[in-house]
Parts: sequence; C-alpha cells; structure tokens
Amino acid sequence: MIDDPMQAVVYDLPSGTRDEYKDRLRDFKGMIDQYLDGQIRSKHIALAAFELAFWQFKRSYGGGFHPSEVSKGDYCKRKLYFEYVGTEPEKSRSFSQQTMRIFNLGTMVHLYMQYVLLKEKVITDFEVPVVSKTLGINGSADGENTAEEITFEIKTMSSFIFAKLVEPVKEHVRQATMYAYPRGMKRIRLIYVNKDSLELKTFLVPLDMDFLNQFAEVVFELKTLKKENEKSGVETLPEKRCKNRMDNRALECPFANKCFEA
Ligand code: SF4
Repeated sequence: MIDDPMQAVVYDLPSGTRDEYKDRLRDFKGMIDQYLDGQIRSKHIALAAFELAFWQFKRSYGGGFHPSEVSKGDYCKRKLYFEYVGTEPEKSRSFSQQTMRIFNLGTMVHLYMQYVLLKEKVITDFEVPVVSKTLGINGSADGENTAEEITFEIKTMSSFIFAKLVEPVKEHVRQATMYAYPRGMKRIRLIYVNKDSLELKTFLVPLDMDFLNQFAEVVFELKTLKKENEKSGVETLPEKRCKNRMDNRALECPFANKCFEA
C-alpha cells in the first residue's frame, strides 16, 4: 500500500516487472529530495509522468484472459482456448497514430484520476494486481479501498457518450467483477470521466455473480478440454464462431490462421 499520495508519480520510466515499478514508486520521496537539492530538473519529472502514462498503456497481462474482452459476453470459446493454452499470437493488434493519441490521452486522464483518488484517500491502492486461476486472469484493478471492500474501475469517454450515460454499462460491471471477486471485494465503484470536461458520474453496484459463475464454468470447460487433449495427444478445439477467414471477428483474431488450419 502506498501511504503518501505523492508517491503516485514516478521519476524513472519502469522497464521491469510490476513489482519493480511499485518499488520505484515507493522511492519517489528520495527522488523529490534530489529534486529539491537541485539534482533533478523539473522538466524530467514532467517527462517521466508522460512516459509513465504511455508505459501503463503498454502493460501486458502476462498471460490469461483479458477481462475487458471477456466481459463483452459474446466471446469465442476457441479463441479463449488458444489464450488458455498459451498459443503464440500470430500478430499483435495495431492501431492508427490518431487512435494511439486518443488512447494515450485517455491513459493520462486515468492516471490523473488515480492520483486524485489516492491523494484524497478514496482509494488505498491503485493498479492492484489480480491473479485468479479459477477465472484464468492475470491483470490489475484501477483502484481499491480495502477498508470499504470496494474495487474501483475508471472509464473515460467523450461528451457525446457521457451525456447519454444514465446507468453503469453492464460490460464494465462484469469486468470490474472479475477484479473484485478474487480480491474479496464486495462492491464496485464505477467512475465515468468526461474527457472533454472532466465531469464525473459514479455508480456503486454489487458484483455480477451470475456472469462470474457463468464464466467460471467456461474456464472449467476449457481446463477439462486441455487435460483431455494432453491425455489423448489429439487436439480437439471448441466450435468456431467465425464462418470464414474474412469474417470481421476473424480479421481481428490473433489466432485466425491456426483456427482455420485446424
Ligand atoms: S478466427 Fe474466429 S472462430 Fe477462430 S479462434 Fe478466432 S474468433 Fe474464434
């Protein structure tokens, strides 16, 4: 847990593991002392904050399912199976420069919100690692308040979408549920940020246990299939969701070649 909100900014761009990154966060005070002694110039701090924002965007889950993808509900079990058994993706998703700029801006707003929430002691930690073998996930929650047993999920959006939002998006509740449950949290606080004006809408909701149970069953099914495949030496795969290789879903899928060879 980070006690001092100032530690939410880091000087050095982390290139190592999440633990190394957190250690560097904890050393932020030492860096401030150096700064006050004139050993580090302020422009380096500003640069580091930007680099951290971009680095956060690039962070990987390090294996397992992606809660943001699974929470949509219409997942392809075959694709999940490839992810579950650790199949090497054929391609990584690429985005246009403009999309990357929008993502980066969203990440910076995200980081700003985490900083403010931590400073105001609304959350007790941020980027909380979440690992669950039962759900096959290895990710991190945006924030957590352990005393109140609440997981925080922050979403940024345009004014247009923000204006129409009157209740939490089901898929966001599901995503946060996958982080909250393994951590023993009882409720979810969704914070929606209008990235054009920084206006907020927040909702406090219970976990979506129906979705969680349903997904745990799918993971169990995939786990059983993996065991059977290893035992028999023959790879049986779940049904395809795509009709052909030119299906939109297949064009986006990093396992499409392997899928259509099988
Ligand atoms: S190509 Fe389509 S059917 Fe095959 S794994 Fe990917 S999403 Fe599933």
